[in-house]
Amino acid sequence: LAKQTGHNHFQFYVASIDKEIRERKQMEKDLAQALANHEFHLVYQPQINLETRRVIGAEALLRWEHPEHGMIPPDLFIPVAEANGSIVEIGQWVLDQACWQAARWASEGTHLRIAVNLSAVQLRQESIVDDILNTLKRHNIPAGRLELEVTETSFMTNLTDAVAKLHRLHRAGISIAVDDFGTGYSSLTYLKQMPVQHLKIDKQFIRDLLINEEDTRIANTIIDLGKSLNLTVVAEGVETAEQEYYLSQRGCALAQGYFFSKPLLPRDFANFVQTFHARIVENNA
Ligand code: C2E
Ligand code: MG
Ligand code: MG
Ligand code: MG
Repeated sequence: LAKQTGHNHFQFYVASIDKEIRERKQMEKDLAQALANHEFHLVYQPQINLETRRVIGAEALLRWEHPEHGMIPPDLFIPVAEANGSIVEIGQWVLDQACWQAARWASEGTHLRIAVNLSAVQLRQESIVDDILNTLKRHNIPAGRLELEVTETSFMTNLTDAVAKLHRLHRAGISIAVDDFGTGYSSLTYLKQMPVQHLKIDKQFIRDLLINEEDTRIANTIIDLGKSLNLTVVAEGVETAEQEYYLSQRGCALAQGYFFSKPLLPRDFANFVQTFHARIVENNA
């Protein structure tokens, strides 16, 4: 491609790859400092039971406030952190912080299940199961309060190892969700072997739900699959009342998305729960 567009473009092409490499190197350096500099924080997105319309949990989502560049989206920096291994330390911080927050909410009378994203790189760590169980103990969080979200790629590198670890976590009482279901290398055989309780329909299938026929069919298929394998299905990226209505009628158990709430700072979360629950009472009155 560079050759076709001529000499000048070729130069530009090389320069931009060089720039990309430099930027990536810089990001790796910045990431290495970020934990110590307290540049990370978590936001929490409410998860709603579509039948009872109650907030049953929250997904913890990582935010990086870069001192110069401002907020950097996780889709940009998580892959870099995975590639250089720093996700292991960052992920442990996330788990620790989320458990601390769950304990704090519990002490205020709000008992929520906290969902934490677990990178495939973390799951490959020898000590990951013990690390997770120790973190729960340290914060006095019952294992049933924690859900780990893994993607299908986690099963790919070493299936037996992943299965063994997830079984240990599950036996301890932690629930496991397959995140972004349908976007990776789904295999029904894997799904059967996995101690998985939740399937999360990726938001790319929800965005055009009821507009795009294929997306609607895919969402339907995942809901039906969940029913036949006895898995709870969670829709992510629900943005409209129509989507919410359709999913609840179709038998999707749980949902999260901007329609209910964006990911929230901890101090705003309790308020949201109160207001959201009060609204149900009002609607039923
Ligand atoms: P994910 O785990 O699939 O999280 C869902 C993403 O969808 C989040 O993006 C969330 O803010 C966004 N979202 C929620 N509701 C809506 C909606 O109604 N519409 C739209 N358009 N988006 C919605 P976010 O926070 O930018 O995170 C992106 C991804 O980064 C996550 O996808 C997850 O894969 C990864 N990530 C975030 N935090 C962590 C973490 O602590 N550890 C690891 N390993 N990965 C993380
Ligand atoms: Mg997730
Ligand atoms: Mg997801
Ligand atoms: Mg995603």
